[in-house]
Amino acid sequence: MPGRKYEDGEDVMGRWPGSSLYYEVRVVSFDDADQLYTVRYKDGTELELRESDIKTLNFFRNKRSSASPSRRRSRSRSRSPGRPSKSPTRTPKNENPASSLLREIRKEVLKVHLTPLKFNDYNIGKRNGEPEGLLRPVIHHRVTQAKNEEEIERSEKVLRYSLPPKREEIVPKEVLEEKVVEREPVAVSAKQLEFGGTIGTFLMMLSMPPALFYLLTKCQQQDPDNLFFVPRIQFTSLWDPAVLGFYILWLILHALIYMLPIGKVADGVLLANGKRLPYRINGFMALLLTSASVAVMRYYKINLLYVYEHYLQFVASATLISILLSIYLYARSLRTPEEDLSAAGNTGTLIYKFFMGRELNPRIGSFDLKYFFELRPGLIGWTLINFIMLLAEMHIQKRDVPSVSMILVNSLQLLYVAHALWNEESALTCMDIVHDGFGFMLAFGNLVWVPFVYSLQAFYLVNHPMDVSWPMATAIVALNMLGYFIFFSANNQKYAFRKSPDDPKLAYLKTILTLSGKKLLVSGWWGFVRHPNYLGDLIMAWTWCLPCGFTHILPYFYGIFLTGLLIHREIRDETLCRMKYGPDWDKYCERVPYRIIPYIY
Ligand code: NDP
Repeated sequence: MPGRKYEDGEDVMGRWPGSSLYYEVRVVSFDDADQLYTVRYKDGTELELRESDIKTLNFFRNKRSSASPSRRRSRSRSRSPGRPSKSPTRTPKNENPASSLLREIRKEVLKVHLTPLKFNDYNIGKRNGEPEGLLRPVIHHRVTQAKNEEEIERSEKVLRYSLPPKREEIVPKEVLEEKVVEREPVAVSAKQLEFGGTIGTFLMMLSMPPALFYLLTKCQQQDPDNLFFVPRIQFTSLWDPAVLGFYILWLILHALIYMLPIGKVADGVLLANGKRLPYRINGFMALLLTSASVAVMRYYKINLLYVYEHYLQFVASATLISILLSIYLYARSLRTPEEDLSAAGNTGTLIYKFFMGRELNPRIGSFDLKYFFELRPGLIGWTLINFIMLLAEMHIQKRDVPSVSMILVNSLQLLYVAHALWNEESALTCMDIVHDGFGFMLAFGNLVWVPFVYSLQAFYLVNHPMDVSWPMATAIVALNMLGYFIFFSANNQKYAFRKSPDDPKLAYLKTILTLSGKKLLVSGWWGFVRHPNYLGDLIMAWTWCLPCGFTHILPYFYGIFLTGLLIHREIRDETLCRMKYGPDWDKYCERVPYRIIPYIY
């Protein structure tokens, strides 16, 4: 366990939680177990801070004196109220940090553009205003984007705090008085259980593998009309060591490609421990190498239909590996320091934690297990399975060329996967990587569910060939392209904005400033609905089902499933965003009232 850096009684600079502002504070005590310092502000307010939120007094002085002349000039023009100041006109002595913070925002609102002292100003790798404390939300502030003094007064009334229960008694008195607010305080906590808690996650783990086998065996039937008829599977027939060997070989080959020192290395998001992890970006190359290998195998007439002929055995092998991987992940997480756990990592029962995943970024050396499984074997496996189904359709239906439906399914889904891998870097900010631990949910999801369920349409078409008319095919492609356009432009817009919020090319977009310092887009795609990328994804998902015709519901399973998944995901993300941004998120919701589908949902 790391030791402490600051001593009791030492005067240091402490970050005011949720902001980028630093105040002079005195260290009162240190909690070895939580690795948290209790610090006292000049007005007597005591708060718990992590070591990464504390700097020595000299830290800023040194940085200031070593700054370039131009920087020094700009500093002198824009002094921060958060900086220890000699000027009583800027920061009244002994002012409550909360009041000071409000005053800072008041200035922002009144368009007096003062630049607060920010970490970024000193290029020490911390993103200004990065919302903190998903694991330990310390404080949420609320000041609306007031447009006039009257609104500012009202804003001050809604300043509110959500301190960890252990320290609730130390909320400053003035703040407690201000806590008389119009709305209930934000009650979201990382300790809330998702997916129905222990029972929900247990039932999901029990039901997902049989559900998958049910779907696949139904798709294999010539006449799958009676959905209640459950085909018998002999479990012993699912075990095939050769298939397991091929499956492991597939994983090893992709692991080797992932480790190749080819492709740029990108930084992940800022973690709770103040670090950013490096990630090798070469997923698209993995897709190209896989395609080239398949072409070589076709050239040498290697029988790829082996996969189709042993399909259920492959599913069983992938399921087995995903379970073993989940057990390994859980076991290793028991030795993981708390700061490296996910929000759900230390919550609930063993079953819940096993499902949700404890460790946020399990790595073996520089090999990131979650990132690897999230993008490589599953996604690329999905396109490979689709292609094998195309060959199987030609073989079984004795066709010289694949059906139009099969070509549509293959090409539209390949576009989706290629897009994901081409834009691999943007996956570093997706919820799975940023928030979720690596446990059964993602292991089974990425290794089994994605390749074998997402390819269900192609699998269905093998035994239920369908040739959609050309006008129908054109309509499907057009609809898919509409979804694709919404999907990629919404994702790109947010990614570009998050990467460089001050990019002049994005200046046309309207934003609201949250008290964390981060902005939220309120125009463009993100002003249209709150999850435009999900809208695009859903349009695409349903258009992939259409080539299978309207005779059976089975190939529509993917559309139904993804609709449920994204609605649920949207609710999860809302909860997380409310945690991060507090009532600023409510303000965004007021301005952008629809979640995914305008005027409907
Ligand atoms: P998103 O890309 O939708 O990101 C959500 C985050 O975006 C929020 O937590 C917030 O984070 C930020 N954000 C939200 N609103 C705004 C705003 N107005 N302005 C700026 N930032 C905002 O997350 P997902 O990981 O869920 O999705 C990534 C992609 O993956 C999507 O396109 C989705 O469709 C796809 N997907 C596909 C699945 C499939 O199986 N086919 C499954 C799951 C996802 P912050 O403010 O901290 O930046």
